[in-house]
Amino acid sequence: MPLMIPFETTYLTLPNRFYSKLAAAHASTPQLIAFNRDLAAELGLNIDEMSDTEAANIFSGNDVPDNAIPFAQVYAGHQFGGFSHRLGDGRALHLGEVVGPAGRFDIQLKGSGPTPYSRNGDGRAWVGPVLREYLMSCAMQALDIPTTKALAAVLTGDPVLREQGRLPGAVLTRVAASHIRVGTFQYFAAQRDVEALQLLTDYTINRHYPDAADPLQLFKLVMQKQATLVAKWMSVGFIHGVMNTDNVQIAGETIDYGPCAFMDAYHPDTVFSSIDRQGRYAYSNQGPITHWNLAQFATSLVQILPDTDKAIADFTTILDRFPALFEAEWAKAFAPKLGLAHSDETTLLAKELLALMAESSSDFTNTFNTLDETQTLYPDWHARWRAAAPDDALWRKTNPAIIPRTHKIEQAIQAATRGDFDPFHDMLDAVKAPFTPNDAYALPPKEAEKVHQTFCGT
Ligand code: AMP
Ligand code: MG
Ligand code: MG
Repeated sequence: MPLMIPFETTYLTLPNRFYSKLAAAHASTPQLIAFNRDLAAELGLNIDEMSDTEAANIFSGNDVPDNAIPFAQVYAGHQFGGFSHRLGDGRALHLGEVVGPAGRFDIQLKGSGPTPYSRNGDGRAWVGPVLREYLMSCAMQALDIPTTKALAAVLTGDPVLREQGRLPGAVLTRVAASHIRVGTFQYFAAQRDVEALQLLTDYTINRHYPDAADPLQLFKLVMQKQATLVAKWMSVGFIHGVMNTDNVQIAGETIDYGPCAFMDAYHPDTVFSSIDRQGRYAYSNQGPITHWNLAQFATSLVQILPDTDKAIADFTTILDRFPALFEAEWAKAFAPKLGLAHSDETTLLAKELLALMAESSSDFTNTFNTLDETQTLYPDWHARWRAAAPDDALWRKTNPAIIPRTHKIEQAIQAATRGDFDPFHDMLDAVKAPFTPNDAYALPPKEAEKVHQTFCGT
């Protein structure tokens, strides 16, 4: 049967120095772990008739659907502050774009084998990071936070070698508004390839920001999207972990769930990545780092403007507004968590609560979820909050009960590594319903369950 996924690939209208066309590596015995049929329907994929076996073959990369022209994208990026001239999709392949009622989306296989951008990597993924990204992105979606989405997870049947030993290989199919990153601009900027930068800017404006009349307006819109996104992360205690410029997506979705986590006990300095020793990507540094990342985006865009001095001055004026913009987005995201309208007093109450939580190492999610019980720990704060917020409806519906806690993800991954996917599926159901109380997923880890760091998502 011909495979009828109606792929288009506008990205391939860009010059061939933007990508490399190549086929996925062969998977020995592809086996479907999860397939998000609701998302497939939303994307307008015509897959009602598709069997699990057909899906496993397509979403491992073994069968290439009609109209798909697999390719890997090139990009650069600042990783922990140091610039890499050439990164690119080292373990991912684009099948193409699909256009459904919700717009145009990239469909990308992650873990599908080596590409010209693999450097020293094997181009593979093991089942752990694949399931982590699946759970995390579904949770984000349920929390109404912009994110790339997981369409499928497939076991390849081939082992992958990592520090921990031989692990089951897997491929995640990722759906994204696009995979254009700050690092995509930096790649061409570093080469002073002004023609490519101009084409990329036009393509980006066309695809994501049709109202932007010029690069400055594009920049303003991207800055707004990032400020809103990162403020939303803060409001659920999310730590991305690797906010390198190649992981900053221009369309404003959360992308690249590597060593990321939702915090249990609140502390502003919390870091999860084992390699982030300086705390560059700590919880409370996510706003300032976004500012820094946006400065790299502006630096790239300067090259396509005719008057460099004026361009630098104009971008600087916009960038200087970031701290105030982020503060405002932060305040907007936290006010409903207290059940209050956004005001200076509300912002102060939110900050005071966080300071108290940090002192007592309170669980981030459960403190907000049970604000009415804070009088035992924080009686003065509680009295002032109660006076301001007599009604419980708003904060109750804003604060989730269920987030994908690191120790539960770890338990699901360990079971999956032994071939038992039940804990993964059970957890997936739980995180898709974040406002439904569920004792099995609501509790913070016991001492023995604590996971102190998550490792790079390879
Ligand atoms: P990330 O930390 O996931 O954002 O990845 C950073 C860069 O390393 C990207 O260019 C990835 O494609 C590349 N990369 C990560 N893991 C692998 C791997 N196993 N094989 C090849 N390239 C990889
Ligand atoms: Mg990345
Ligand atoms: Mg990546």
